[in-house]
Amino acid sequence: MKAQTSAGRRVQGNDARKRGNVDAAYRALAGTNRRLTKQRRVILAQLARLKRYVTAQELHSRMARSRAPGGLATVYRTLEALRGLGMVTTSSHGDQTTYLLCDSAHHHHAVCIKCGRVDEVPCRSGSNLQRALLRGLRFRLTQHEMKFLGVCARCS
Ligand SMILES: [Zn+2]
Ligand SMILES: [Zn+2]
Ligand SMILES: [Zn+2]
Repeated sequence: MKAQTSAGRRVQGNDARKRGNVDAAYRALAGTNRRLTKQRRVILAQLARLKRYVTAQELHSRMARSRAPGGLATVYRTLEALRGLGMVTTSSHGDQTTYLLCDSAHHHHAVCIKCGRVDEVPCRSGSNLQRALLRGLRFRLTQHEMKFLGVCARCS
């Protein structure tokens, strides 16, 4: 993911915060249409449980087997709503887009090369990188991206 580096910004990538965000998203996604609210909650719950990049089609087929089946359009609209809330990030491979529940606060991803699980890693290296690059290269860091690849606890 792309993210801004700002030395003073506190990074809170912990699970408690994440749960708080998911709860906030549940509230934000609630509408007057109870059926639609249920469908949106199913989609959000799937994203929170799967913890990996998924296509809208996969979410749709999972929703079809749930207690609140709905159309693909509902999946797309819900994903857009979550993106608007800063809770979903996307990745594109050719013409395929995949979606991941993702905290809006700056963090990095530890990606399992076996199952695709994505865990969020809080970033504490921002200001150190900034200093090292400025000192070594006179390079002014404005943002950074990092991705950690490896094997998750369940797969090892
Ligand atoms: Zn993330
Ligand atoms: Zn894994
Ligand atoms: Zn970082």
